[in-house]
Amino acid sequence: MKTFGKLNVAEKLRWMILLTSGIALLVASLISLSIDYFSYRKLLLERAVVLSDLIATNSTAALTFDDRKTAGKLLQSLRSEPSVNSATLYLPDGDRFASYVRGTREQHPTDRDDRQWLDSMRQADSLRYRYDEDDIDVVRPVVMQGEQLGFIHIDTSLDALYERIVDYLAVTLLLWLLIMGGVYLLSNRLQRRISAPIQHLVEGIRKVSDQQDFSLRLQGGGEDEIGTIISNFNTMLGQIQERDDKLASYRKGLELKVEERTRHLREAMEVAEQAREDAEAASRAKSEFLATMSHEIRTPMNGVIGMTELLLDSNLDVRAHRLADTAHRSAESLLGVINDILDISKIEANKLQLNPEDFDLRALLEDTLEMIAGQAHRKGLEVVPNLPPDLPMMVRGDPVRIRQILVNLLGNAIKFTERGEVRLWVRPGECDGRRQTLAFEVSDTGPGIPVEQQERIFDAFSQADSSTTRRHNGTGLGLAIARSLVEKMDGRIELESSPGKGAHFRFTIQVGLVHQDTEIPKPAAALQGVRILIVDDHAVNREIVQNQMVAHGLRSTSASCGSEALELLRQADTAGDPYRIALLDWHMPEMDGLELAQAIQSDDQLKTPQLVILSSTGADIDEAMAAALGISCFLQKPVRQRQLFECLGNVLGQRPRDPLPVAQNHTGLAGKRILLAEDNPVNQEVAVGMLTVLGCEVDLAADGVEAVATWSENRYDLVLMDCHMPEMDGFGATEELRRLEREQGRPMTPVIALTADVQKGIEQQCAVAGMNGYLSKPFNMNQLLATLQQHLQIVDPGSGSPDRRQRMLPLLRLEAPLDPDTLQQLRDLDQASGRNVMGRAIQHFIEQMPVELEALKQALAEQDAETLRGVAHRMKSSSASLGAQALSRHCARLENTARNGDLAPVAGLLDGIEAALPAVL
Ligand code: ADP
Repeated sequence: MKTFGKLNVAEKLRWMILLTSGIALLVASLISLSIDYFSYRKLLLERAVVLSDLIATNSTAALTFDDRKTAGKLLQSLRSEPSVNSATLYLPDGDRFASYVRGTREQHPTDRDDRQWLDSMRQADSLRYRYDEDDIDVVRPVVMQGEQLGFIHIDTSLDALYERIVDYLAVTLLLWLLIMGGVYLLSNRLQRRISAPIQHLVEGIRKVSDQQDFSLRLQGGGEDEIGTIISNFNTMLGQIQERDDKLASYRKGLELKVEERTRHLREAMEVAEQAREDAEAASRAKSEFLATMSHEIRTPMNGVIGMTELLLDSNLDVRAHRLADTAHRSAESLLGVINDILDISKIEANKLQLNPEDFDLRALLEDTLEMIAGQAHRKGLEVVPNLPPDLPMMVRGDPVRIRQILVNLLGNAIKFTERGEVRLWVRPGECDGRRQTLAFEVSDTGPGIPVEQQERIFDAFSQADSSTTRRHNGTGLGLAIARSLVEKMDGRIELESSPGKGAHFRFTIQVGLVHQDTEIPKPAAALQGVRILIVDDHAVNREIVQNQMVAHGLRSTSASCGSEALELLRQADTAGDPYRIALLDWHMPEMDGLELAQAIQSDDQLKTPQLVILSSTGADIDEAMAAALGISCFLQKPVRQRQLFECLGNVLGQRPRDPLPVAQNHTGLAGKRILLAEDNPVNQEVAVGMLTVLGCEVDLAADGVEAVATWSENRYDLVLMDCHMPEMDGFGATEELRRLEREQGRPMTPVIALTADVQKGIEQQCAVAGMNGYLSKPFNMNQLLATLQQHLQIVDPGSGSPDRRQRMLPLLRLEAPLDPDTLQQLRDLDQASGRNVMGRAIQHFIEQMPVELEALKQALAEQDAETLRGVAHRMKSSSASLGAQALSRHCARLENTARNGDLAPVAGLLDGIEAALPAVL
């Protein structure tokens, strides 16, 4: 059955009407029934009272005369009164005098209750009555002249009353049913008047919501609330429809606009497409033009460069030589720019082709590093390469283009970095057995590149900061070319940098794997298990070298400074497992590599390992110095892996090198205090090293003024005075010393001039200044020893010993006079070109070099800096072309010195060239 809440409005209304009417009728009937009940019962009582009065009045005679018969007849007259059950006449003492009982009814019951009640009534002097369940009892005294003769009791039945009520109920029920039927019919009509509009409203709402048709309008509805709802609903529909109409028209407008715009856009795109095609055609034409032009320009440029080189080689006077040299350098740099433009135009014209070939990856990387190392070292930058041992050896790719990318990135890193380091890290990436990904990272500690400029520096002709770039030159093409090349090699290039934090360029390329027939060289057996100590203050370098050592089977430990290294060496000795090799970085703070070498040598308790020195500044130590420090091998960074392990293999084959027998105790120089006045840091380093080995105590002064000041405050056994120094030169400083000595009455300190000047008259010049002698640079340990002993008047305890020179082991020559790789390249060139390039080059070199050497000497004699620089430059490039690296470095140093206009060290450098040349020839 439905609960009331779930009924619809019509049913609810119907039920409400029926219930209300039913309850109202019921209540009305009950009230009417009760009224009728009480009034009828009262009527019966009144009649009984009247009858009792009548009987009492008429029975006085019968009572007076004790006539029971008359009294009986009198009571029998009540038979006509159907409601009277019984009537009894009593004597005052309560005896029954006469009675009447209706029909077959027994004598009026005289139960205890009746009896008691009648006894109480005997005394009553007036009418008494009581209602019972079924009847009404009326008692009245019969009195005559104030004397009570008896009393009458009439018992009236209530049956008539109950019959009347039953009839009444029956009629009421019938009426109730009739009325409720009528009410039901009426309610049906009435509820329809209210529920029908609601139903109509509901239907309308449902229709609107189902059909979304807001044009519908609901009919009907009077003045009442439902009418108001319907009219409001219609109004709301009207508003929605109006809004929808507006929206529709707005949409239509928009569609029209979009259509129009699309048409415009299409037209614009067509125009743009046409313009793009035109631009591409123009760009292609431009690129082709550029490519052709660049090519056309390169051909005469080669002529210009070749001819200026020839011109430079001919006998030019100083001015003409300088002009030709400037023209030559300008042409070289112009050629660089043209090459870049040619590359970029080839890239733009989609004509850049890679030339794949099989090549040795490690050799390529090491060559590249060597190429840029000089440039880095000149700026005092450390080059930190990490070429892990698991790099593939032979790969297939375009080595020329790979080198171009690296040279560009490394070149930029060096160009923009003023201090710190430049790193090249290479890692093998994914490999599918045929193709290998190589990941490169070139990073620096330079100024970095602002984030907002990072995107565009890979675009052609764009530079991060035009002011810096102007300072550094450049076309802004390098990175654009690098990116295109990387992409051509199926890789990506990206940059991570923030100002002040350096630039990190990362790129990947894909190369082919070449499966070699030849066996991959195994790490040298001799090195297996050998204990090596790596000493370097640069943590990354230490880790890289250590990894290399481990990969080659050595047992390596590393130390970050000299004192730690000494401690480790001692511990290893105590443990009975001494280090056999110590790889020392030259340039370390506190104790440098040379000082550490000395400290190791001079510690009697230590079992001296083979000492290998690595230098990153391009500075060299000469044979005598190496011998004096007991250094077995000296290598320039970046070291080629092969070269390093060859060196380690070689030194293992020897006994640890003893330092020169000119040790402190034997020289007679032990404890002598020497003041060294020298401005050149490399020379300082070398001289201090030598003097320390000889047992002297050394103080340094960087110029003449400092020398005089230091000398004044201390007592020295001898002063080594460089002639050419800033502030005050050696001659001036010596004159000052002598003056002070005279003034203060100090004993004369021997002063030895250090000079690279070998020109006539220098001896005299020294003497005039008050110097006691001179030592021409570069000097070796023995020359220094002899000079010191001479001027300190010490008799050399070791002199005359026949094996002394023999005991000076020659410095292990790791660097061959001619680099085999370069020679191989020349041979390859011969083969490729079919021309005797190498033979002709060698011939030219053999003829040219002695002539050039003479020219240098001549220029030195004439103090002609420009000629010195030009000749040294030619000798540098000629020797580099043939792989005479050491000779080339000597020449480069002379060239730089001459360019700076300081001719003092030239004589020493010339000696170096003269010494290196015969081996090359
Ligand atoms: P450019 O010939 O001018 O060096 P590049 O394309 O090689 O041309 O470099 C574009 C610009 O990117 C440079 O001019 C310089 O502003 C910036 N740049 C490149 N490498 C570095 C770097 N390592 N550190 C700081 N700036 C750099």
